[in-house]
Amino acid sequence: MNSAILSIEALPEMANATTTTRDSRWESVLARDSASDGKFVFAVSSTGIYCRPSCPSKRPRRENVSFFRRPQEAESAGFRECLRCRPKVIAGNPRQQMVKAICRYIEQHLDEPHTLAKLGAEFGQSPFHLQRTFKAALGITPKEYANSCRIRGFRQKLKSGHSVTRAMHEAGYSSTSRLYSRTASELGMEPSNYRRGAIAAPIRYTCADSPLGRMLIAATEKGICSIQFADSDEELELCLRQEFPFAVRRHDDADLADLAQRVVLRLRGSEPAASIPLDIRATAFQRRVWSYLQSLAFGDTRSYSDVAKAIRQPSAVRAVARACATNPVAIAIPCHRILRSNGDLGGYRWGLKRKGTLLQIEAAKAGGD
Ligand SMILES: [Zn+2]
Repeated sequence: MNSAILSIEALPEMANATTTTRDSRWESVLARDSASDGKFVFAVSSTGIYCRPSCPSKRPRRENVSFFRRPQEAESAGFRECLRCRPKVIAGNPRQQMVKAICRYIEQHLDEPHTLAKLGAEFGQSPFHLQRTFKAALGITPKEYANSCRIRGFRQKLKSGHSVTRAMHEAGYSSTSRLYSRTASELGMEPSNYRRGAIAAPIRYTCADSPLGRMLIAATEKGICSIQFADSDEELELCLRQEFPFAVRRHDDADLADLAQRVVLRLRGSEPAASIPLDIRATAFQRRVWSYLQSLAFGDTRSYSDVAKAIRQPSAVRAVARACATNPVAIAIPCHRILRSNGDLGGYRWGLKRKGTLLQIEAAKAGGD
């Protein structure tokens, strides 16, 4: 062992480290802090051996100690692994400690987006190596672990009666769309269903005439959450009650007249979709189907299997049909433009007669343009 070479090799690491980091590392070594295992190793120039912070051996003198982020770095600087604490042992404590430390870190930083690069930097590992170690220990990636922590917190919050939005923020989700895209498969259903429509947001609604009979429009503060058709207002109100059983529902013709008017104009093809704000819940899959439907031009039609192909899940034809059948906002999401491959109308949540009328209106308008 050549100590002159050692000190040169150790220099870059020491030069890069701030005083605080060096000192906190040294404090961890003095404390034999097992939580620091896996974050760095310390090497002792007088013995030529490197250890993990929790090594039970006698503490060396500070001036003989240098720090390395990884065992490999200590070894390329000429140090040998300590046989007592085995900083490199794969199945042993150090890795488990590191994985535990990563878990702890993730749990404490749930409200921040996790990247492997960031975790890698935090734990002195290459992103690839960190992910592999983590997955070998727990069977899931750090990202999946973060998601499962959020879901767990989220589920508890929902059960204790929080609104979806509040539970979402408290469980560390930064936006609704992220929540829905990530939890749909894991909860087995979308969050609003999980609470059986228990969102307590006040909903205002109005009933108005339309070319398809009576139409109901319901809206939260953010946008329209329901557009439905029926023969009578009683029927419409029943539908709304079934869809939002726990919401405070208030009849409000005056405020919603303008929105209702815009939906009727949209139905006739003379109002841009963008002028109709929506506030709807969707699973990741529904979201993809519904966005695709919204991209279709007025008067255009597709088959269920066209849609499945377009969203790159060609075998999901039945799921596409289900997504169409559960569309909460007629017209705004034009599920009426989806037909069977043989040209049959297929299904429509508000009745085939209305679907036929809509398609006629669109065809006439598109043909006349
Ligand atoms: Zn040791």
